[in-house]
Amino acid sequence: MNVPLLDLHQQMDGLRDEVMAAVAQVIDSTQYILGPEVTRLEEAVAEYCGVGHAVGVSSGTDALLVSLMALGVGPGDLVLTTPYSFFATMGSIVRVGALPVFADIQPDTMNIDPERMAEALAQDRKSGGRIKAIIPVHLFGQCADMQRIQALAAKYGVPIIEDAAQAIGADCPFGSDGQTTWQRAGAMGMAGCFSFFPSKNLGGIGDGGMVTTPDREFAERLRVFRNHGAKPKYYHSYIGGNFRLDPMQACVLRIKLRHLDAWHQARRNNAAVYRRLFSEAGLAGTSVTLPVAVHGDINGSETRNYHIYNQFVIRVTRRDALRQYLADNGVGCEVYYPLCLHQQECLQGYGDYGRQRYPEAERAASESLALPIYPELTGAQLEYVVTTIAGFFRR
Ligand SMILES: *Cc1c(COP(=O)(O)O)cnc(C)c1O
Repeated sequence: MNVPLLDLHQQMDGLRDEVMAAVAQVIDSTQYILGPEVTRLEEAVAEYCGVGHAVGVSSGTDALLVSLMALGVGPGDLVLTTPYSFFATMGSIVRVGALPVFADIQPDTMNIDPERMAEALAQDRKSGGRIKAIIPVHLFGQCADMQRIQALAAKYGVPIIEDAAQAIGADCPFGSDGQTTWQRAGAMGMAGCFSFFPSKNLGGIGDGGMVTTPDREFAERLRVFRNHGAKPKYYHSYIGGNFRLDPMQACVLRIKLRHLDAWHQARRNNAAVYRRLFSEAGLAGTSVTLPVAVHGDINGSETRNYHIYNQFVIRVTRRDALRQYLADNGVGCEVYYPLCLHQQECLQGYGDYGRQRYPEAERAASESLALPIYPELTGAQLEYVVTTIAGFFRR
């Protein structure tokens, strides 16, 4: 049997006629830059995320970059973030001339640890207060501990840029004593950055991204920055860039957005099947550490998206051997991410990053393995994945 890490054929087969008609309409309209398709997607995403404004941009990477630019983060500034994320989280910081400060992750969720963030912010305050923004990443589709992160941001007066690239639609609970309220990824900071890279839960037919914000003026600034910093046309108040979302992507994304909650649900069901199978095979909690969904997956009749499972990431000590074994047996899997951000070669000219140690992030980088979790997987495929892993541990 073959189980790819991701297969988009079935999803596109089901939407093909609708997508082709929408794409044809964009082509016939000759409106190829921004325009009504982009505006409609912006409105739909803002509503879906429960936030006032959304600005379509060219990618998740550019969402981060344009957010930092519009916040005025630049040379001499520092940005607090996690050492365990996709490269763009850190790359965007360095590209505006600032430098990253890292806070280690929590071992269970692999999201940034508010305890470590508090230490970094306190130390920075003592040495002059150069941290100008914080970028929590909602890794693999589960929100970072935003209640505590918001409290830190308020205490130190620094804006939050959420890297929500993997977490569109993920809900985050706030409050205690039965007084729970919810906010969605992208609605919990000054800027929420989304990616429509094809492997994200909401993926385009190419690159695309979005920045959400509750702040009308900031949304306006983002619109100016995504278009070379010009307002009006040819009068440039800022150095922006070409960060515009393509209407061809917007029209496809608008169709897909209507199915997103059903896809989230299917991924969550797959996760539940994995949990049962791993536990029946006697692997859960022994040879294999399953991903922790802090707020559960199904709470009675509760249908909130606490975890949207963009990735289902297990941890195993003999990771590289298992990865090879799975590949040999037709199971697609991937390592997100094999090297932490502070260890990347391109950062070494900028400071003593190579000597810094983030033990939890480094351990995660050596143990993590993402398994297939996409919505259309069959029960037989899920079973084959777990049976194959069980076979590896019996050898
Ligand atoms: C995918 C991703 C990005 C970048 O998005 P692109 O659209 O590929 O530029 C940024 N951050 C994280 C955490 C991501 O997973």
